[in-house]
Amino acid sequence: MADVHKRPSRWLTAAVWGAGVLLSSILVQSVTGWGGDALAQLLNNSAQLPVTALTAALGLRLVLRGGLDSRERRAWLLLEVSFLLQVAGNGASLIQHLGGGPISFPSVPDHMFLLAIPFVVAGLLLLPAERRSRTDRLKLLIDALIVVAGACMALWYVEIGPLLEVPGVDPVVIAFSAGVPVLDLLLVFALITLVLRRPEAGAAVGLLGASMGLKVVADSSYTIALVQFGVFFGPGDWPFLLWAAGTFFSLLAVYRRMVPGASAQEGRGRRGRVSWLPYGAIAFAYALLAFVAREQSLYPLGGMILGAVVLTALVIARQVFAQRENRRLAVTDPLTGLSNRALITESLAGLTRQPVRDGRHGAVLLIDLDRFKPINDAYGHDAGDAVLLGVAAALRAVIRSGDTAGRLGGDEFAVVLPALPNRAAAEGIAQRLVDALRTPVVFGNQLLHVEASVGVAFHEEGVLDAEQLLAHADVAMYAAKRAGRGHYRVYTPDLDTRARDAELWRAVENNELVVHFQPVVDLSGGDCVAVEALVRWNHPERGLLYPGAFIELAEETGAVIPIGEWVLREACRQAAPWPVKLSVNLSAKQVVQPGLVETIGGILDETGFPAERLVLELTESVVLQPDEQTVARLSELRDRGIGISIDDFGTGYAALNYLRTLPVSVLKMDRSFVSAIDTDPDAYAIADAVVRLAHAYRLKVVAEGIETAGQARCLVEMGCVYGQGYHFARPMPGEALADFLAPARPGGH
Ligand code: C2E
Ligand code: MG
Ligand code: MG
Repeated sequence: MADVHKRPSRWLTAAVWGAGVLLSSILVQSVTGWGGDALAQLLNNSAQLPVTALTAALGLRLVLRGGLDSRERRAWLLLEVSFLLQVAGNGASLIQHLGGGPISFPSVPDHMFLLAIPFVVAGLLLLPAERRSRTDRLKLLIDALIVVAGACMALWYVEIGPLLEVPGVDPVVIAFSAGVPVLDLLLVFALITLVLRRPEAGAAVGLLGASMGLKVVADSSYTIALVQFGVFFGPGDWPFLLWAAGTFFSLLAVYRRMVPGASAQEGRGRRGRVSWLPYGAIAFAYALLAFVAREQSLYPLGGMILGAVVLTALVIARQVFAQRENRRLAVTDPLTGLSNRALITESLAGLTRQPVRDGRHGAVLLIDLDRFKPINDAYGHDAGDAVLLGVAAALRAVIRSGDTAGRLGGDEFAVVLPALPNRAAAEGIAQRLVDALRTPVVFGNQLLHVEASVGVAFHEEGVLDAEQLLAHADVAMYAAKRAGRGHYRVYTPDLDTRARDAELWRAVENNELVVHFQPVVDLSGGDCVAVEALVRWNHPERGLLYPGAFIELAEETGAVIPIGEWVLREACRQAAPWPVKLSVNLSAKQVVQPGLVETIGGILDETGFPAERLVLELTESVVLQPDEQTVARLSELRDRGIGISIDDFGTGYAALNYLRTLPVSVLKMDRSFVSAIDTDPDAYAIADAVVRLAHAYRLKVVAEGIETAGQARCLVEMGCVYGQGYHFARPMPGEALADFLAPARPGGH
């Protein structure tokens, strides 16, 4: 549903308040009796008119400018017609009153009010609500009809029936008097379906429903009092007060729909609240029947009514049990009889919605069997089933009422503990589970040994939903498995890191990494003279990940060592046939490895890649304070012909002395220097200075991150010879780079 963005102006809000005050005057007059019937009459006619007029005006604005979607607009358009008829009715009534003549029944206002009802009914039925399946809509219709049938009986007994019995009344009057309750019945139908349908714009529709509900109560009390007890209510009496309140609620409904935020979320989260309604209606209808039949003799009518009541009660009971059974089947795991994934997720969602507070801790345990698959494979499915049943029994033994134990699938189980006195309680349960599951399961004459790893996660501040909580438990469970199985582990954020780290190591093993290559070009001619190898991770779930998403973690945990080795080997393998140099990034962790020189030498031998074409890129942080061994290692590499370059130059600490002491041959000027050179003279001057500096140290400069022709031109002006950036080419897979290189000649930097 579209949201109505424009906030009503202050005067509008004031007008709505004013309307409320105006209508309260009717209440005050009624309570105090001040001014007698004459004033009551006048107030009733004159106070309602401005209010209904305001409602109609706001309704018009809502329909014309409310930003409603087409379906809701149609609904409000119909409601608007009813508001306008209401205004006409109130106006006509005021004119009649001021005219002072005798008022006949039915008169003009009566027609207006009557005519308004079908429009309200249609409007209410059209209001958009939750989407439902065909069966659901059919069920809804039947539910609504049951309620209306109950109301029909009541109406027939107390209103319409007696009306027909009144002798000598004009048929038009009878028809008209019966018309109101019949149309009201339609209104009741619309209201019931409205409640059952869970409309989208909750508060506004709620107010509208309340308004119509008040109207129905007022209408029927008025008629019932008249036909049953011969009591004639007049202005100032309570049905009139209800009518006035209804008028005000309609105004509030329209106003509320205009307020921003009256949006789709409002109507959510009330599932199952009204399913008792049809049963209530049946109970009501039978109560009425019993009341009417109380004076009848038991034979024949009384007994039969009693029989019908009992029969219906039994049918309802059967229905309720069937429903329960359906629900039970839908949420249990057929093998173990535990809850299934759906119910576990539901209870987890409930747990994550409860507030986090001391003395009531929510936790989930995730249990994964450690040796299930071999048992299943070796002894067959019956043995597997026996093990799963054993686990189910163990889970049942540790939970209390309010907890949920379930099987998520395969050999994975979960326990949801929504109300623990402290965190230690969850750990106690986890430990008991681990111990219990160590006991072997007896299967025929076999003893089957399984063990379980348990992950524990608590519902804490910052845990968003069931899925996240389960993911935490999963991380903890894997940590437990890594720690040697048959253990439990409580989730902590650093486990997350560890889990992701393990994932990184697996990525290398499973060949999930790929290398892309970005050309480095000669800025004056545009020829590709080198390529830089850049790693990417083809993550099985998250897709292609760039180094920004994992290199930092890999640096922290050391996974960057196998990753870097893999990249170097892969890049050398792919780039061997290309007539250009190859740059490979080396992390700080790699540089301090004692075996670095041997590793690189081995890879070069293995791939046949010539040392003179390899350049290793180091970041400034590595070379800022190099220890002696590092300098020695780098010198050895240099002696073998391998080039060393300083990557992202200028982003670290501006310590220049290392440029003299280290065997460096290339400076890669960071792209932060390049980004503004063609627009900002200061940036130009600084980049220029960097280029001069590099030349003073007899280093080649490669400018990074060149994105425009303007930047490239400036760099040429400065005497910077090489560059790299999206302006020339983005990093690309090896095959694409081979095509890119096709026209290029060998070169170097
Ligand atoms: P880097 O070594 O400075 O690599 C250049 C980065 O700048 C690359 O990002 C490249 O895609 C990006 N780039 C190139 N031209 C442009 C441009 O015109 N505009 C912009 N905005 N960006 C450009 P990428 O591939 O995301 O790599 C990021 C960093 O990750 C690299 O920065 C490098 O420090 C690190 N890295 C990449 N591969 C490896 C590796 O195999 N080992 C190690 N240790 N680090 C690596
Ligand atoms: Mg680099
Ligand atoms: Mg760089």
